[in-house]
Amino acid sequence: MILEVAALTLAGTHFGVPLLYYYYLKSRYLNKPWSIKVDENYKPKVTVIVPTYMEAELIQGKLRNLYAQEYPKDLMEIIVIDSGSTDGTAELVEGWASKHKGVNLKLIREAERRGKAYALNHALKYAIGEVVVTADVDALWPNRALAEALKWFADPTVGAVSCLKKPIGSKIRGVEEDYRRYYNVLRVAESKAYATPIFHGELAVFRRSLLELLGGFPTDIGADDSHTATRIALLGYRAIVPEDLWVEEFVPNEGYFLWRARRAQHLIQHFVKTIKEARKHKVAKEFRKIIAVEFFLHVVNPWLLLTSILILVVSIVVFSLLFAAFVMILGLALLNLKHYRTWIAQQLFLIVAALRNLKSKEIAWSK
Ligand code: GDP
Ligand code: MN
Repeated sequence: MILEVAALTLAGTHFGVPLLYYYYLKSRYLNKPWSIKVDENYKPKVTVIVPTYMEAELIQGKLRNLYAQEYPKDLMEIIVIDSGSTDGTAELVEGWASKHKGVNLKLIREAERRGKAYALNHALKYAIGEVVVTADVDALWPNRALAEALKWFADPTVGAVSCLKKPIGSKIRGVEEDYRRYYNVLRVAESKAYATPIFHGELAVFRRSLLELLGGFPTDIGADDSHTATRIALLGYRAIVPEDLWVEEFVPNEGYFLWRARRAQHLIQHFVKTIKEARKHKVAKEFRKIIAVEFFLHVVNPWLLLTSILILVVSIVVFSLLFAAFVMILGLALLNLKHYRTWIAQQLFLIVAALRNLKSKEIAWSK
């Protein structure tokens, strides 16, 4: 009896908290107007930083994509920072630049690879834009993305802006899409409430003055984009993901599971560090709640599910409890439902990620 109650309480919390959080945010904030003054004509000087490591296959497409942005060329500077790629990435950038003289493009080559955040900080030293954008190579922006992202900076309370992601180009896309549907609602609703602690390096815009105040991107953890946005929010600025700013991200066909696990590793590192960091600041009430729940969802919640499953297994195997067997079979049968399956997969990624974090932080990951 005690075992069954324990297992059900854990499982109830595991599924209940995220569902409540989702419906709370959705009903309370999702359709609220933004209390931010946007100006479609606001056109600051911008530095786009493209970090590259072994991107020969995609880099030219990404440069073409940036070139196609509907933004005045004289207000846009591109810095490609390559960390010793051996597949010819840097040479391809040089070649492209020599054919596009009208573009203000600088290539920096690091002899040694020390990770993405380290490279971003290196590039930041040369950046002259009022705002700085990170642009991962494996994502494509719509032509108006930059202009759409920058218009929010007309409001001085906005410190950082990022995008939503549409997965493309993989057989696994379906799983990724399903996961994103739940996830995107959270990003936008959190942004409207105050700020979202999860950003996307595929298109992440920061006020340069704030980046400098923070001393650049964190090099000791993986989620440089999310953590920087969160620190900006902790300083009292909005860090937002608007509902209509989308980019397309290539989802890997091979190594999808490791890719997801690595990202989960980085998010766990980010939330663990954020919880400590938040204590040092006077934080907006809404944002404090958001950080607390997201910490719970990424760091604690997966383990409630695992514990609940272990208790059920013990109840069945050791005590032959019928009710436990029934709950277990129900839990397995539900795997036929796509949303449920997607959710369980994400929990597995988070558990694997937490264990992998004990071994390596994956600051410079394999490609
Ligand atoms: P994910 O989006 O988190 O899965 O990571 P990616 O592997 O796509 O990397 C994001 C961006 O950072 C890509 O443009 C990579 O080429 C780049 N990148 C990754 N590691 C390094 C690095 O050590 N140095 C530099 N300069 N860029 C890197
Ligand atoms: Mn990527």
